[in-house]
Amino acid sequence: MKTDTAVELDPRVQSFLESGIQKLFIGGEFVESISGKTFDSLNPATGEVLAHVYEADQPDVERAVQAAERALAGPWSKLTASERGRLLWKLADLMEEHAEALAQLDTLDNGKPIRETRSADVPLAIDHFRYYAGWATKIHGEVIENSVSNHMFTYTRREPVGVVGQIIPWNFPLLMAAWKLGAALATGNAVVMKTAEQTPLTALYLARLIREAGFPDGVVNILSGFGPTAGAAIVKHPRIRKVAFTGSTEVGKTIMREAADNLKRVSLELGGKSPNIIFPDADFSKAIPGALMGIFFNQGQVCCAGSRLFVHKKVYDNFLSDMSSFAAKIKQGPGLDESTEIGPLVSEEQFNRVSYYLEKGKEEGAVPLTGGEPLSGPGYFVPPTIFTNVRDGMTISKEEIFGPVVAALPFDDEEQIADVIRRANDSEYGLAAGVWTSDVRKAHRVAHALEVGTVWVNCYNAFDAAVPFGGYKQSGFGREMGSYALELYTQVKAVWMNLD
Ligand code: NAP
Ligand code: MG
Repeated sequence: MKTDTAVELDPRVQSFLESGIQKLFIGGEFVESISGKTFDSLNPATGEVLAHVYEADQPDVERAVQAAERALAGPWSKLTASERGRLLWKLADLMEEHAEALAQLDTLDNGKPIRETRSADVPLAIDHFRYYAGWATKIHGEVIENSVSNHMFTYTRREPVGVVGQIIPWNFPLLMAAWKLGAALATGNAVVMKTAEQTPLTALYLARLIREAGFPDGVVNILSGFGPTAGAAIVKHPRIRKVAFTGSTEVGKTIMREAADNLKRVSLELGGKSPNIIFPDADFSKAIPGALMGIFFNQGQVCCAGSRLFVHKKVYDNFLSDMSSFAAKIKQGPGLDESTEIGPLVSEEQFNRVSYYLEKGKEEGAVPLTGGEPLSGPGYFVPPTIFTNVRDGMTISKEEIFGPVVAALPFDDEEQIADVIRRANDSEYGLAAGVWTSDVRKAHRVAHALEVGTVWVNCYNAFDAAVPFGGYKQSGFGREMGSYALELYTQVKAVWMNLD
């Protein structure tokens, strides 16, 4: 149904979608898969086919690795750091010119609201490339004084790892590609990336811009395809020296096991069940929107979603009643409608998965204050759901749902914060947490005690290219963003020179 707020399709998106079967990006060219096999990418707002895409498998991975090796042996490693930085900057400029097309394509392929892709995914991705463009010229080793001899000169170099494999999920198709590419390219690596089967399109659009920016052929290779085939081929490839993965903890474990065979370096950004803790002295005018955004942003399909909401007993009823009346008013609809605040889930599989947790929650005695029932189609819509009457041991308090579903849990120990910290930390995951209070001492004490990679105090889901992000415990290891990500993509060489 066409509404006044429906977005006019950008002609560049139109022509992209009408350009036929989407090809793989290997060696600077768009090519068919060797098998000739294709698959469909769907529009989750309708369940209809959006595009046909060539499906990469092991032979395509091999071809991409060879292209990456040629780039490393040839033009890519001959560029100066400044030239690498300028290419990244140029890419960011082109993305800015194509911002609306990127936003619309991400929305169409993933389902997320256009107001989010315009205000978060696309600008953050652009900023990410600009940030790492700056780092290209600031990566260096050091001169080290040694005690062997005064005539022995020692220094280190930070060298690229070589061909790196990157496997990304569907929840932020463009932004995850940017997070992975920025640091890898600033440090001079060549990349073989596999996108998620549900959302292959924006990275292929980005590939066109990578080519236009003037990156040498083969520096970036983008493969659409499936995890057990193309993904596994990347993980097993003996000449891919590192794999960076974002996705489920389960697949992360498989990747780590598989990578052991050739001792590939691994970095993993996995799932979460993040606590968001509301103390009674919090400013509710900020904490309520913060708790809503913490769980409902991107339909809750966020690894760091604040899905366990701990609210102090004294304020629990008021907080939850205000929060659920706001949640009930959140406008749900197709992502390409400007008034939409929450879109569909990414796929039928995800819809079924979240629907299972809604049932499971009710079966175990939790009560939905709002939402609680998946909507009937077309499209994969699940309304914002707040569960009360939840206990820590219930399935919905323990397992990652990856949907717009929050478990609200009361706590009652304002003076002795140890108990809520113990409960917050009682999880296999340790990705992120939120703390809402106006007491600065309490904020720091809680922040230090939480076993997580990111703590947001009086805010949630804040991100910046300069600030590291990654997990504790089974949420993974390795840090993306900031100077920390450079460590993932460089190896240190010590050089000894005898000057005698
Ligand atoms: P997933 O299977 O972990 O997918 C993430 C990526 O890994 C995709 O590109 C996937 O390929 C690939 N993959 C799957 N199996 C692989 C294998 N054996 N070897 C190499 N690569 C492999 O996640 P999902 O199935 O889409 O979602 C399931 C759950 O994972 C979600 O409900 C959520 O809990 C979690 N998840 C977390 C994040 C996060 O940001 N941490 C993101 C997405 C999902 P395909 O294209 O074939 O899927
Ligand atoms: Mg899709």
